[in-house]
Amino acid sequence: QASNVPFPPSLDANEQVLVNSFDNTSISQWSYYYTHGAHLAGQNKTMAQWTADKWAEYGFTSRLDEYYVYLNYPVSHSLQLTYPNGTIFTASLQEEVLAVDETTSYPNRIPTFHGYSFTGNASAEYVYVGRGQQVDFERLIALGVELEGKIAVAKYGGPFRGLKVKNSQEHGMIGTVIFTDPSDDGNITEAKGVVAYPNGPARNPTTVQRGSVQFLSIYPGDPTTPGYTSKEDSPRADKSNSVPHIPSLPISWVDAQPILEALNGYGTAGVEVNRSGWVGAIPGVNYSTGQGSPATLSLTNVMEDHTTWIWDAVGIINGTNQDEVIIVGNHRDAWIVGGAADPNSGSSVLIELSKAFGQLLQTGWKPTRTIVLCSWDAEEYGLVGSTEWVEEYIPWLKGAAVSNLNIDVAVSGPIPGIAATPDLHNISTEVMKKVIWPYRGTTNRTMYDVWIEEDGEIGVLGSGSDYTAFVHRGIGAIDMGAGGGPTDPVYHYHSNYDSYHWMSTFGDPGFISHEAIGQYLTLLLYHLADDAVLPLEPAMYSSELQTYFEDLNTTLGEYNATLDLSELSTAIATFNTSAQEFNALREFAITSNDADLVTVQNHKARDFSRGFTSQGGLPGREFFQNLIFAPGLDTGYAPVTFPAITESITFAGNETLAQEWVGKTAKAIGLAAAILKT
Ligand code: GLU
Ligand code: CA
Ligand code: ZN
Ligand code: ZN
Repeated sequence: QASNVPFPPSLDANEQVLVNSFDNTSISQWSYYYTHGAHLAGQNKTMAQWTADKWAEYGFTSRLDEYYVYLNYPVSHSLQLTYPNGTIFTASLQEEVLAVDETTSYPNRIPTFHGYSFTGNASAEYVYVGRGQQVDFERLIALGVELEGKIAVAKYGGPFRGLKVKNSQEHGMIGTVIFTDPSDDGNITEAKGVVAYPNGPARNPTTVQRGSVQFLSIYPGDPTTPGYTSKEDSPRADKSNSVPHIPSLPISWVDAQPILEALNGYGTAGVEVNRSGWVGAIPGVNYSTGQGSPATLSLTNVMEDHTTWIWDAVGIINGTNQDEVIIVGNHRDAWIVGGAADPNSGSSVLIELSKAFGQLLQTGWKPTRTIVLCSWDAEEYGLVGSTEWVEEYIPWLKGAAVSNLNIDVAVSGPIPGIAATPDLHNISTEVMKKVIWPYRGTTNRTMYDVWIEEDGEIGVLGSGSDYTAFVHRGIGAIDMGAGGGPTDPVYHYHSNYDSYHWMSTFGDPGFISHEAIGQYLTLLLYHLADDAVLPLEPAMYSSELQTYFEDLNTTLGEYNATLDLSELSTAIATFNTSAQEFNALREFAITSNDADLVTVQNHKARDFSRGFTSQGGLPGREFFQNLIFAPGLDTGYAPVTFPAITESITFAGNETLAQEWVGKTAKAIGLAAAILKT
């Protein structure tokens, strides 16, 4: 699909200052700094201060906001397989140290473990549970597999890892081992003849994916302060509903191989389980359920509990209108010394962005709206730094926040992608037309051209990064990043190999994608912060809501559920009318040069999405207040639209409850419409 986007893009003087300030060489310096030190949540104050100091150097007023939160750190772990004949295999639980990748041998590198995991031992027979989603467990039960008292061996991918542990626990299992499978690496696998990292772009077989196992879809943030901010003297709640009470460990495919192989021939063979994503590509393994296998696993996981300080760096440029604020966020903590993609591609971009705005400030420019940069701590444990910050500043944010622009993994490959609330759809694609996107050797296309060719769809926000607390308080947000396709070098997510060496050799040699996505974020921020008419399009919700409505109808059909959706369709129609009126009045304000009326309309665009929230949250999950989209209860990452209605059917199977939420969702849409209108 060819586009009619002019090339090269034409930029106004301020846009040019911003774009020209970007320099891939300095981005690589920021990346080098961030990827060679301690990152773990609560252990990165030096980096927090460095970030705040850099922002100050470029003209932002900066500070550290501290929170006192529950975290746990790894002490020791072990995993052994005992074969029926008594022979033992001991898993290494380690990633190979590589001579060419210096940070893989750092003495302070982090063991392979799960954040917020439970301290305990488990010794038992074990079962392969696929991706560990509820449907996988249902399938196992249908196949007559005993789960109670066994250890679950689950494959990474699909749902958020903490939900794999939650589902195991809820089926009476006593431990969970989660392995990485090369089948999720597209065409870039050793099985297809591609050389593994560090000598080639395939996955290093010893890669382990660390990561949190809190129950993301229930409650993000410090598990001991649900709904309020974590200060030193904050009362502490029982955390047992949002973190596991069985131990878990992440392992590599090399460690998983003998464990899974010992299940071959026991229970139903993988292909006959007939579940998508069940069968992987580890040589010699047929992904049997393992029912009846006498092999046993013995795992230990020892963690140390801490209630400790974390640091969000905050950098501000005050705008003329201080009641209109754009928050740009990126987390700083990582599981590893490197973290070149996650999160330091984003962190490096934010330093370069601050430098660009510093240059613009020097020309005498001052933004119309206030810009707030945030470098979050403890995202990895469960969006802790951003959630606690939002919980602290919510009265101010409810009144003043325009949008949250989130950049986490800015670059792990060459293909641009975005997910956003509908009000940001127009501006986020318009700005793509202003950025040159170097792509697979070409330099003659805009980001928009590449995006249309490769993807061309704006995602719906679920969860898994720091926009979550904003979206669920009714603040519009966008998440962005460039990733790899099935033929690009494998990104070693949450592994020691997410390093500067990997990034500069395979992920983004020359840091050119970093530069491009940084220019994109910078221009997006510039327009949101400075255009006289706030470039949000509430009307874009009309067509999106209609799509979600049709999806809901499809779901109802699939579940044989009958609901009266008339209130919902009426509310969507009302919203549409109000949005048209909003547009007409805004147009009038512009043509009649009525600055006060423009301000009134800007404020409506800022505020209307607060209407989509419900104070008490979704059924059974208070934190998640947005009634239009939420992370799926059993996906954690992937979104579900009209979540309260949809999941009352798909999870609770409760039509009465669903019907109640049709009414509440319709009211919320009506409230958003009313804010746009009045
Ligand atoms: N980005 C983190 C992950 O996917 C988020 C952790 C969380 O939200 O708990 O592991
Ligand atoms: Ca809290
Ligand atoms: Zn991240
Ligand atoms: Zn991460």
